Amino acid sequence: MSPSDPASDCIFCGIVAGRLPAYVVYEDERNLAFLDLFPWTRGHLLIVPKAHVDRLRDLPEESHAPYLAALVEVCRRVERLAPDYNVAMNQGARAGQIVFHLHAHVIPRYGEENPFAVPHRQRLEEADARRLIELLRPPGPG
Ligand code: AMP
Ligand code: ZN
Repeated sequence: MSPSDPASDCIFCGIVAGRLPAYVVYEDERNLAFLDLFPWTRGHLLIVPKAHVDRLRDLPEESHAPYLAALVEVCRRVERLAPDYNVAMNQGARAGQIVFHLHAHVIPRYGEENPFAVPHRQRLEEADARRLIELLRPPGPG
C-alpha cells in the first residue's frame, strides 16, 4: 500500500496488515474479527473485510457471502459469552461511523438497557409509507 493510498491511514487496514495490534478471534482469507478496544459490553467484536471498503454498499459482490459467513461464525462463537447480542453496522458519520473501514459490531448483551432505544417512536403514516416505497424502488430505466 502506498502512502498516498486512502487506506494507508486506516486503523483497521493497519490491523489487517499487522502494523497495529489487535485481539484477533477469527481470521479467514478475506475477513478478520477482533475485540473492540472500547467495548460497549464485554466481548464486543468487530468483523472487517481485509480489503478496504468504506461501507457495505462498496463491498464487492464476490465478498458478500464470505463476509456474511464470517459474521455468522463469529455470532455462533459469541453465544458462548451471551445467548443474546446485537449485530450492528454504522454507515456514515451521522449513523455514528467513526472508522471508515466497513465493520459489523457484534455486541453481547447481558441484560443492560437497550442502547438503540428511541423514547418517542411514532406510527408510520400511510402517505409517508407510499412516498418511501417510491424512493426505495429498485433503480430502473427512466
Ligand atoms: P464505528 O463507530 O461503527 O465506526 O465503530 C468503530 C469501533 O472501532 C468503535 O467501537 C471503536 O471502539 C473501535 N476501535 C477503534 N480503534 C480500534 C482499535 N485500534 N482496535 C479495536 N477497536 C477499535
Ligand atoms: Zn481500511
